[in-house]
Amino acid sequence: MSGADRVEALLDDAACRLEAAGMSNAAGEARMLLAHQLGCSPSRFRIWPEALVGDDDAETFRTLVAARAGGRPLAYITEECEFWSLPLKVTPATLIPRPDTETLVEAAIACPLPEVARVLDVGTGSGAVALALAQERPDWYVTASETSGEALAVAETNASTLGLKVTFVEGDLLAPFHETDAWDLIVSNPPYVAADDPHLCCGDLRYEPQSALAAGADGLDVIRPLVAGALQRLAPGGWLLLEHGYDQALAIAALLKEAGFGSCFMQHDLAGNPRVSGGRRED
Ligand code: GLN
Repeated sequence: MSGADRVEALLDDAACRLEAAGMSNAAGEARMLLAHQLGCSPSRFRIWPEALVGDDDAETFRTLVAARAGGRPLAYITEECEFWSLPLKVTPATLIPRPDTETLVEAAIACPLPEVARVLDVGTGSGAVALALAQERPDWYVTASETSGEALAVAETNASTLGLKVTFVEGDLLAPFHETDAWDLIVSNPPYVAADDPHLCCGDLRYEPQSALAAGADGLDVIRPLVAGALQRLAPGGWLLLEHGYDQALAIAALLKEAGFGSCFMQHDLAGNPRVSGGRRED
């Protein structure tokens, strides 16, 4: 077509394609993709549905819709995802932050901690948890570690875009830190999906870094060393908080006790699933 397409027609056509591909929020996603392409807010389309879109933008938009219809996660197409009301950049090097993970942030800010706490987020990915904590508690010293240099670069970009202060460290789990570091709080949303879980082959998970999702036969291959190594890196009275799978709470309670943690607790996510467990270094 020469000239230009109307917003309304482009969105209707895209919504049909996305719906046919099985997307549950087809119209909403079509608006988000067009807003991304045009660099505007999706609400503008309601006010001005007859606005014209140039050929180049319309063509690129159709390519984005085709990618989404093919299964590519919306967040990887737009390179954006909101977490804790923070607009975050995400790329295929990082997990796409889940609303469930806000339970971990809530548990962390509810912990009885010193006002100027020293906090470590292990395996920060896009930086979601560390940045939410830095936003909520500006007096905390927040450090975040990540084994993937590519993911760490995304987290650093997010921190500077949002103007939030987090110290980033590249390295595997607790390896970059000393036993004398004495953190007041260690939080982590580690990989915890069992390697043969069929969900890894569904939806967005197919496109996400498997190293950020899967952790051995029972999904606990990362959590086990993390729990075992965390206690001696906490200050007396310090807390360890972990996100985990809906069916892992009992196993994690056992790991926390075995490692010597006290005051163990578990918190459900908004869907009512066990999602976060924690314990305290009592001595
Ligand atoms: N909660 C995610 C999912 O099952 C997994 C995130 C993770 O492994 N940390 O989709």
